[in-house]
Amino acid sequence: MKNRKRRQQRGRTLSTSAVQAVEALIKGMPRRRDLLLEYLHRIQDHQRCLPRDYLHALAHLLQLSQVEVYEVASFYHHFDIVNYSEESTSENPPGITIRVCSSITCEMMGSQELLQKLAALGLENIRIQDVPCVGRCDKAPVVVVGRNPVEKATVALVKETVLKKEIEEIYPDHLTYTEYRDLGGYSFYAQLKKDFNAEKKVNILREIEVSGLRGLGGAGFPVGKKWLIVSAQAAPRMMVVNIDEGEPGTFKDRHYLEKDPRKFIEGMLIAALVVDVETIVVYIRDEYPAIRGMLETEFQAFRDDPYCQIPKIEIRRGAGAYVCGEESAMLESIEGKRGMPRLRPPYVAERGLYGRPTLVHNMESLYWVRDIIVKGADWFTKQGRCHRHGLRSFSVSGRVNNPGVHLAPAGITLRELVDEYCGGMQQGHTLYGYLPGGASGGILPANLDGIPLDFDTLLAHGCFIGSAAIIIFSDQDSAKKVALNAMRFFKHESCGQCTPCRVGTAQALTLMKEAKWNIPLMQDLSMVMRDASICGLGQAAPNPMDCVIRYFPQEVDHAEF
Ligand code: SF4
Repeated sequence: MKNRKRRQQRGRTLSTSAVQAVEALIKGMPRRRDLLLEYLHRIQDHQRCLPRDYLHALAHLLQLSQVEVYEVASFYHHFDIVNYSEESTSENPPGITIRVCSSITCEMMGSQELLQKLAALGLENIRIQDVPCVGRCDKAPVVVVGRNPVEKATVALVKETVLKKEIEEIYPDHLTYTEYRDLGGYSFYAQLKKDFNAEKKVNILREIEVSGLRGLGGAGFPVGKKWLIVSAQAAPRMMVVNIDEGEPGTFKDRHYLEKDPRKFIEGMLIAALVVDVETIVVYIRDEYPAIRGMLETEFQAFRDDPYCQIPKIEIRRGAGAYVCGEESAMLESIEGKRGMPRLRPPYVAERGLYGRPTLVHNMESLYWVRDIIVKGADWFTKQGRCHRHGLRSFSVSGRVNNPGVHLAPAGITLRELVDEYCGGMQQGHTLYGYLPGGASGGILPANLDGIPLDFDTLLAHGCFIGSAAIIIFSDQDSAKKVALNAMRFFKHESCGQCTPCRVGTAQALTLMKEAKWNIPLMQDLSMVMRDASICGLGQAAPNPMDCVIRYFPQEVDHAEF
């Protein structure tokens, strides 16, 4: 056997024309293993898919095995791998893809019906997909035509958008970099950079610590403490900004990046200065192409006409994997791998991106940095209710009159938030329940609308605030349906690395579809998922199911809900 000559090359034959095509597509880009997702995006953007021949060619050019490239490409939902080759174009996807958001709020607002009606139209050269949250829940239902989000979508509106071929998202108008700078923009950072010394560093660290600013992506780790930990690690240090914002119900990062992106950029630069990082990587979800374009333009303008020296900044594009919002999974993704969470320890602050100490922050945590330093920690801490301190950006969606991002005191109750900020419940709707922290934060009933909404205050009720995504539902909705939607999402998004999550979410979904719930079995399953899953996705996935059992027993044994 050993001496027998292999007559045929294993796997598919390398296509010379595919190699030439891929070479042309990635021309000008450095050849680096960690840029694998960027190459895949380049091919997908051009071809509208990833032909297998091209994946083989890419593997050849990067000197990687075919399986390495294939396993990464097939991990992310936004990549379409097809059998297309130069000879056969039958599998080439249609010209425009219509993505109908099927997340909790959109489903509540009729997305499933919309999906069916759009499919029935039989539009030519169109494919229609049912996709998870696209980050615009306040304007539900949302349909994305190509890359153009159609808010409060109707069949007529979507059809008109398709016929007009309006497939690109338009970013709101802002001052250019030069105009902004001429008006004094970035001057605080520039001055700080000029005068920066050990004393200034200590003062800033103290101010951030006293302000009590916490990570606003969901975990709530104190920002000042994180800066201290990463600063104490050996250089070179990295910084990663998480703009993956995939938690259903969350859209605050997009809101701030559309409204005042430079406040975030300045906060990011200040953090990088204080922690002394060498490189910043901004990881942004693929669903926000206009924001990505704006950031690319701004960083390039900074490089072309530097106000002062800034660290190296790279932008990386996600590819539709919710789990990449988990910090270690995001680092894997940036390194060009499947976004699978890492086992800890070591923590990312010690060994993160490319094995270096890494400061990882959600966009919003950095958004508040400049204001806290300029206005003082007191300005931030004196806000708050029910003995809580600071401000929270609530992404509110569902059955209220004014959904949207509402900046409110930490510790505000749901009742106050609805009445004072959201214009009350919609006419004909009575509060029945709410999700205080997106799909993963659990579900609370209407009679618990007086609990302070903040980090740690909801734990006794089996819930958490996470990224403060509040989804409000009414007596015309069903908690069971909401929980089912959330579990379907977790099953879809589980990275599959550990059995309790991979099998547990599938099993939970099956059990939840039963007319009569097997509560002891569900509780056992929930315990295993919580105790044995590697990351927060699997650990929090049972929350909606457990909350229905705990707070909505009237629905559990009834098929009509
Ligand atoms: Fe992956 Fe789920 Fe395990 Fe997290 S808990 S590592 S998402 S399988």
